[in-house]
Amino acid sequence: MRLPAQMQLGRSKMPAPVGAIGMVVLLALVGPTATLRAQQPVPDLILSNGKIITVDERFSIAQAVAIKGDRIVAVGSNQDMARLAGPNTRKIDLMGRAVIPGLIDNHMHLLRAGTTWIREVRFDGVDSRKHAIEMLRARAKAVGPGEWIYNIGGWTHQQFADDPRSFTREELDEIAPENPVALQESYYQVFLNSRALRTFGIEAKLPDPPDFIKGSIMRDARGIPTGVIQGDIAATRPVAARLPKVSPDQLEASSRALVDDMNRAGLTSIGVPGCNSDVLGIFQKWKAEGRLNIRIFCIDGAAAGSPGQVNRSLEQIARMKLFQGDSYIDNIFFGESVYQPLHDPMFALKSDPTSDQLQQWRRIAMEIAKAGLPLHVHAELHDTIDAFLDQIEAINKEYPIKNLRWTLAHVNQINASQLERMKKLGMYAAVHPWAVINGGNMHEGFGDGAYDMPPLSTIQNSGIEWGFGTDGTAANQYLPFTTLYFAVTGKMAGGTKVIRQTIGREDALIAHTRKNAYLVFQENSLGAIQPGKLADLVVLDRDYLTIPADQIRNIKPVLTMVGGRIVYDAFAPAAAR
Ligand SMILES: [Zn+2]
Repeated sequence: MRLPAQMQLGRSKMPAPVGAIGMVVLLALVGPTATLRAQQPVPDLILSNGKIITVDERFSIAQAVAIKGDRIVAVGSNQDMARLAGPNTRKIDLMGRAVIPGLIDNHMHLLRAGTTWIREVRFDGVDSRKHAIEMLRARAKAVGPGEWIYNIGGWTHQQFADDPRSFTREELDEIAPENPVALQESYYQVFLNSRALRTFGIEAKLPDPPDFIKGSIMRDARGIPTGVIQGDIAATRPVAARLPKVSPDQLEASSRALVDDMNRAGLTSIGVPGCNSDVLGIFQKWKAEGRLNIRIFCIDGAAAGSPGQVNRSLEQIARMKLFQGDSYIDNIFFGESVYQPLHDPMFALKSDPTSDQLQQWRRIAMEIAKAGLPLHVHAELHDTIDAFLDQIEAINKEYPIKNLRWTLAHVNQINASQLERMKKLGMYAAVHPWAVINGGNMHEGFGDGAYDMPPLSTIQNSGIEWGFGTDGTAANQYLPFTTLYFAVTGKMAGGTKVIRQTIGREDALIAHTRKNAYLVFQENSLGAIQPGKLADLVVLDRDYLTIPADQIRNIKPVLTMVGGRIVYDAFAPAAAR
């Protein structure tokens, strides 16, 4: 396997980035503009009169940024950037707006979402139940009788600030009498109307369909199904599996709508678990055509589900090649599961990894270390994290993992001593706060313990390298400003306080940009607005650093750029995009 240069270098030997300050000093020393022009490429585009939140190592703020091709060539004052302009340089007046680096989600199931996106009625960011119902009514009217109306996760009823109630079968019958309806709350439960129940063969006098988990179909005292299917991912899966995906000829349009929504939210790069999908071919086609508007860093590899499958997994790992791509599409991690029996269910309260299971887990993880591959593994519950760290410490003695950026993902139950062990191993934490929508459910399950899930300030203060992901679009919502609002206020979508460990807004932004660039092996190209880096940035409608914390979730990007191309412009007519 070929390691990327930055990985072989290791962190401590990383060349110091050319910062904005360095550039300004250079300009001041060089003197006459003519000399400057000879040395400095004439930019294609200059954004000026803004508040450029560079998120460089000093968290410096500038006024203007100059871009040539797909790269940032200079950052500094309005005056300095104006001097670089040539006759053909395009100029954008930011009118005082804040600009941040393109946001990176280190873990979102993006390609899977493309297979259903345009058919879903998404509730991400919808904090009014009344509005959610209006959306359902509008969809029923638009699609006509008989068509499915559904969503697959990304919300819970506790996010409805006006009326945090779940949906009843009768209510959904009234909203869409002619359509089957299925509304899935994260991986926690699904609400069905009468038509959906009939379609699935779930009826008063009939036994449960065999693929539904025993006890997951809620019935009243008379045996009549209430419309609620409940009980973690295994309970919700049979419903999602029955819902119609987009047709093959709609897949590209659906994926395009999905990427547009990501750009509108300010996202420019995603760590993607599961890239074996047909959808990846579409992204590769867009890349070849120069119109791929989001960067995809794949976390891939089939997990063994039983001891019998482990040998096959070992062969697959020995053949696996990573880092064959580029800054648009690449495979970077084995993950997100190593051995399926040790994959914690999302709403489990406690795990009990057995030594037999851990032995299989270690065989696979050992092979990953031996092959020199980065690993990104789902690890949520306290005892699972401890057990994995025991194994990794043993593996590390045989095959050091120091420079492989092994990452534990989700880690809502992680604690200070585990973070310390991870730091010693040179490991990383991909933090996916499920409580952003599941805060209510987690408090029901964990009681006061949920106030420390995730323990954000403990993670920040530990000094470990860590970054934010959402684990969207089913387990969680995908909007980065909702995650940043949660991190700074401790409040879930909708406004209820659900965690006590919050962090500062600078640290939160760093974890969604520069630190994530590191987590996806792109620290030399992404994550900060600096000369030499790729021109991925987001212009905001208000200043993330100064608005009241409660308004962070309402921030709307007005312009998003990927590799110097404008991929979202709030002021452009949709057809021009
Ligand atoms: Zn996971």
